[in-house]
Amino acid sequence: MNNYLFDAIRTAATEDATFIETPDGGRLSYADMFDRSGRLAAAICELGVLPGDRVAVQVEKSPDALMLYLACVRAGAVYLPLNTAYTLKELDYFVGDAEPKLIVVSSRSLEGAHAIASAYGAHVATLDETGGGSLLDLARTKKANFADVNRDGDDLAAILYTSGTTGRSKGAMLTHDNLLSNAVTLRRAWRFTSADRLIHALPIFHTHGLFVATNVTLLAGASMYLLPKFDPHEALQLMPAASVMMGVPTFYVRLLQHPGLTRKATTGMRLFVSGSAPLLAETHRSFHEKTGHAILERYGMTETNMNTSNPYVGDRIAGTVGFPLDGVEVRITDPDSGRTLASEETGMIEVKGPNVFKGYWRMPEKTAAEFRADGFFITGDLGKIDERGYVHIVGRGKDLVISGGYNIYPKEIETEIDSLPGVVESAVIGVPHPDFGEGVTAIVVADKDVGLDEQTILDGLVDRLARYKQPKRVIFVDELPRNTMGKVQKNLLRNAYAQLYNES
Ligand code: ATP
Ligand code: MG
Repeated sequence: MNNYLFDAIRTAATEDATFIETPDGGRLSYADMFDRSGRLAAAICELGVLPGDRVAVQVEKSPDALMLYLACVRAGAVYLPLNTAYTLKELDYFVGDAEPKLIVVSSRSLEGAHAIASAYGAHVATLDETGGGSLLDLARTKKANFADVNRDGDDLAAILYTSGTTGRSKGAMLTHDNLLSNAVTLRRAWRFTSADRLIHALPIFHTHGLFVATNVTLLAGASMYLLPKFDPHEALQLMPAASVMMGVPTFYVRLLQHPGLTRKATTGMRLFVSGSAPLLAETHRSFHEKTGHAILERYGMTETNMNTSNPYVGDRIAGTVGFPLDGVEVRITDPDSGRTLASEETGMIEVKGPNVFKGYWRMPEKTAAEFRADGFFITGDLGKIDERGYVHIVGRGKDLVISGGYNIYPKEIETEIDSLPGVVESAVIGVPHPDFGEGVTAIVVADKDVGLDEQTILDGLVDRLARYKQPKRVIFVDELPRNTMGKVQKNLLRNAYAQLYNES
């Protein structure tokens, strides 16, 4: 045996322990996992997938979808999950970019996928129970004792496309070592054991639900409730028998709106984790007040798995993403000169460690441009490290507003706006402005019952923000545009309001 990632999973597992439970009462033991992923690995090999070949997968979340991920690892293939929301046109782009040997889709996109695959000479299969092209049908004809393909730590395990929040998604090449080292570190940091039961309601085409949630569970020999999507009522019903939940901030906002969220309802839980987007300090505070649990906020990205985490034992500080994980180095640099900055100074967040990816798929120039000579990856996120060592994210480099020659961090302004009475949430963007270069522009969702207007918000900010930081305009909207991970898509807002100051 020498399959870097799967050997470790094998070692951690107890055969008759539960790995997955589903809402319909389904249960998969670790023995079932070995059996099913082994048969699937044999099936994809029969379809001609060789070590290093990509297997593109666009299917709904299910235990079989996770088995397929493990089958790819065992077969030495490169797992390439795609967002289920992508259209056939988008699938065509990703297939053209990644050139997979096999494309696995749901039966409803089978026809379209065949047309795309034939252009690239790829095979197509479904994950349906039975029927034409069912990979599960083929897997059932195979033996379970699949001999795992040899893979080293440096070999690719997956290509994961970034969420496309700031532009076109890029394929991040992740090695066996990237995935394993991060999962081992997290298991320790968050004290995962085989007794843990995770509420897993995140999508599995994204780094958070796929690698953080799944790999940590596997590496602890723990179990998970695999839910197709998040539902606060369902989560609350599971909590008495569960121990950990991993979520994005909207999960917590929705739990807080549910009358069933109480201290009693959450006493069985030992850990609530939030990541992928900023958790509002207000959400952190209300959740703590209602349940006694301080949500543990963490920071990761497709390219680096996880970088930082608030402590398991110690202060989990709202508005921070905690400390660098063991073995991960984080520094803040001046975006122009690259000079390392002192604590409390704001600049570019750079990361180095075994978690950092190998590069962007077929983008050697972009890869070279995002790494420093000493191996640090330039994340594109702006932040600071405070005197106690906690990392703070102040926003993305691409969202920085430069108005009248000043650097303005939207988060600072959003925090002030959000604390005004009647404001639900806000997004601050820079919009081209004839006098200032960019005009600070606030897009606000307000509570309909309060009847806020632009002037009330501007007046409310006068004593809170220096004049140059104050919005030039406030625009009210019903909701902010978000992608499937709950991230606000500021590029869409910038496009929508690009002409704002030309018109006036
Ligand atoms: P793209 O790179 O295609 O524009 P993306 O950066 O949103 O999309 P992901 O890799 O899914 O794609 O997201 C990583 C980013 O999410 C980080 O770079 C950071 O900006 C943000 N992020 C993750 N966790 C947190 C957090 N706890 N607080 C604030 N931002 C976070
Ligand atoms: Mg990114």
